[in-house]
Amino acid sequence: MMQSREIKYSFTQHYLIAVVLLVILSSTTFYILTTALKSSETTAFVVNLSGKQRMLSQRIALYSQLYINAIDQKNNRRIVGIQTVLENAADEMRLENERLSSGEIYPEKKVALSNTLQKLYFEKNHLKDRVNAYTALVEELIRSKTRKEAEAISDKIIKSSNALLGDLNMAVLQYQIEGDTNISNVQTMVLVVWIITLFTLLLEIVFIFQPMAHKMATLFQKIVWHEHNLQEEIKIRTNSLTIANEKLAHLASHDPLTGLKNRLNMETELQELIDHQNIYKSSYAVVMLDIDWFKKINDTYGHDAGDFVLCELSKIFLDTVRPQDSVYRAGGEEFVIIFNRITKEQVIAKCEKIRQRIQEHHFDYNDLTFHITISIGIYHPETVLVNSVTEALKLADNALYEAKRAGRNNVVAIDN
Ligand code: GH3
Ligand code: MG
Ligand code: MG
Repeated sequence: MMQSREIKYSFTQHYLIAVVLLVILSSTTFYILTTALKSSETTAFVVNLSGKQRMLSQRIALYSQLYINAIDQKNNRRIVGIQTVLENAADEMRLENERLSSGEIYPEKKVALSNTLQKLYFEKNHLKDRVNAYTALVEELIRSKTRKEAEAISDKIIKSSNALLGDLNMAVLQYQIEGDTNISNVQTMVLVVWIITLFTLLLEIVFIFQPMAHKMATLFQKIVWHEHNLQEEIKIRTNSLTIANEKLAHLASHDPLTGLKNRLNMETELQELIDHQNIYKSSYAVVMLDIDWFKKINDTYGHDAGDFVLCELSKIFLDTVRPQDSVYRAGGEEFVIIFNRITKEQVIAKCEKIRQRIQEHHFDYNDLTFHITISIGIYHPETVLVNSVTEALKLADNALYEAKRAGRNNVVAIDN
């Protein structure tokens, strides 16, 4: 599984690429819109300026006529007034002519003149020179000495004003057309950027966000799968632990050779029975069984044959006892049977039956057949009450000893 640091790095990288692309696109849009705005401001200003030239040319034409009238009326104050208007208009027109023809609309910004405007100002129409010549006529008019001279100049002004007006109109129109083209170019660019933005977003979805989502889903699946595996492993381990524990408990409480319960088990269960008897006066018996001359079996037929006898005996004991009784291997070739709910008489009869069955049993081991006998000692609380396991076993052992002493292959129950 990927390290969490790698996952974080990979996600951050994808995310950063997506963000950077969006930043680039939005900055481009912002730049284009700002440029468009500035350009439309300039266009409006230039169109205005150009319109003003038109207005000034007409004012000059009108005032040159009024100038002649004022001379006729010999109204000096009016003459001076008109001279000022004409001078101002001519100055202004000359100045604006300079700005428009050079393209230096603002002191800090120069606008490049288009070919059409270049032609209009300098080549075909010589608009710049004509405007200057027009304003020069104003100077001449003001400096004229006679009415006749003034009238001639005024006529010149009015005559040239019509042609000038047409060309100034053309200039205004051209500025307007160029402004509109600019705006429409910007609009096209905005549209293109918008389409690019949408396309980029689409690409980001396909190549950045979808793989990211896919990666996350895969990771999540891996985690779920890993957790599931972990749980399964825990289950398996718990199961094998439980089995191991059960095996251990069985090993601790059972004899590995015969599979019978061992001495440890016997002592615990016998103590319970003694306690139970003391309270409820239930009857039971502790029977100790020992193979006669077992050493000889080992010595004659071998240790394995001895083991076989021990196993075979266990089966016979288990087969003879009732469901409420228990058989234990107390150690070596000694067995204990605890009979539950049984009278002394019944247990003696039962043990006699066991003794007899074994005496008659053919032990077939490999090609050998042999017989054995057992001695049995019985403790029954009918004779004497005990409080502990040790006491009960001691009494059963005493009875067994008696059985051996009496010549073996005997059943002896304690008498007192
Ligand atoms: P007695 O009639 O007095 O009981 O004679 P005995 O030979 O049975 O008694 P003794 O106590 O002298 O011998 C018991 C023998 O049991 C000694 C030992 O070798 C044998 N024995 C103890 N445990 C095992 C076992 O697990 N397997 C085998 N094959 N022999 C065992
Ligand atoms: Mg013995
Ligand atoms: Mg023995």
